[in-house]
Amino acid sequence: MLIPVEPLQDLVKETFIAAGCRPGEGRRIAKYLMRANLAGHDSHGVIRVPRYLAWKEQGMVVANQKLAIVNESDSFAVLDGRHGFGQSIGPQAVDLGIAKAKKAKVAIIALRHSGHLGRIGEWSERAAAAGLVSIHFVNVAGSQLVAPFGGVDRRLSTAPFSVGVPLAGRAPVILDFATSVVAEGKVLVAAFGGKPLPERSLIEPNGSMSQNPLTLYGDHRPFDPRKGPGAIRAMGEHKGSGLALMCELLGGALTGSGCAGPGARRIANGMLSIYMEPEAFAADGAFAAEVKSYIDFFVSSRPASPNGEVLLPGDPERRNKEQRLKEGVPLSDDALRAILDAARGVGVAAAVIAAVPAPAV
Ligand code: NAD
Repeated sequence: MLIPVEPLQDLVKETFIAAGCRPGEGRRIAKYLMRANLAGHDSHGVIRVPRYLAWKEQGMVVANQKLAIVNESDSFAVLDGRHGFGQSIGPQAVDLGIAKAKKAKVAIIALRHSGHLGRIGEWSERAAAAGLVSIHFVNVAGSQLVAPFGGVDRRLSTAPFSVGVPLAGRAPVILDFATSVVAEGKVLVAAFGGKPLPERSLIEPNGSMSQNPLTLYGDHRPFDPRKGPGAIRAMGEHKGSGLALMCELLGGALTGSGCAGPGARRIANGMLSIYMEPEAFAADGAFAAEVKSYIDFFVSSRPASPNGEVLLPGDPERRNKEQRLKEGVPLSDDALRAILDAARGVGVAAAVIAAVPAPAV
């Protein structure tokens, strides 16, 4: 069913405030989760509410944290997110990177021990809005979900990668994806009866391909990706698997956050971000002019199918946002029920819950 944005965002905000987040943090968590839904990435949207609350309960993520500066110069910083919510730590880290790059022309920010940073394109968009090019290598310490090319055993996290390029006079180009065939959240959406997974996105322990979410979750409830027998496959065969490895090495090892394994580790995002002021590289608008001319050339490629079109990375998310702001965000009954149960569990007021359409019984 389609759920209107405002009451659902309000419900999520009140849920986190009732669970012990300060109002500003509750607002941020709700805002960024909803923005992921609006972008079309339901895997990183409000469906995460029960899991975020469970993480908070278990002490995996901590409410109301400010990041700590471990080491810094004019153009670099190592930051510790202290396992705070990524929706609070992410903007603090990105804003520091933007401020340093505005002064020094480039900045490299290594963020360790952040709570889930959600949709990484959010952070590329934030930098692009400030006129900066940015590149983000991200991993998830302690999260073994993905089999490397040629293997069946889980060795990698879904290790996302994102690049943002601001464009004069139009929306930025935002490339943002998990380096696995699908993000884990997309397996979760499919497990809740949402969009089915692509064929060959998962792999069974015997090496056979699967699109059944239970390959990842097994028969346990609530869905826990650590419990299933199989793995998600790395995207793009050997090349995607190699990029995922680099996300582990840069986002995990270089930041000091830790890689996906071996062994059990506290789940946390590490993010190595590079911020660049384009004018420092190609002055007098040369970069903007070349990018505009090239982008026009790129999208002018003849469509491969009669009703097809060539899009820029970031275009699908913008289109989704326009549509969903008008129509609401899709949620399966099961996913909505889990969010409402979570809200009731922390004592959210009945009126806030009643403002959200009820799932089918
Ligand atoms: P995806 O497979 O939907 O790919 C998204 C990218 O492809 C976007 O840049 C999009 O603009 C582009 N794209 C999509 N269709 C296109 C088309 N027709 N033409 C041109 N470009 C197109 O994304 P995903 O791998 O499922 O990742 C989903 C989200 O999960 C991302 O936002 C990612 O950051 C997030 N994620 C986060 C974590 C974390 O630990 N925080 C881990 C994994 C994934």
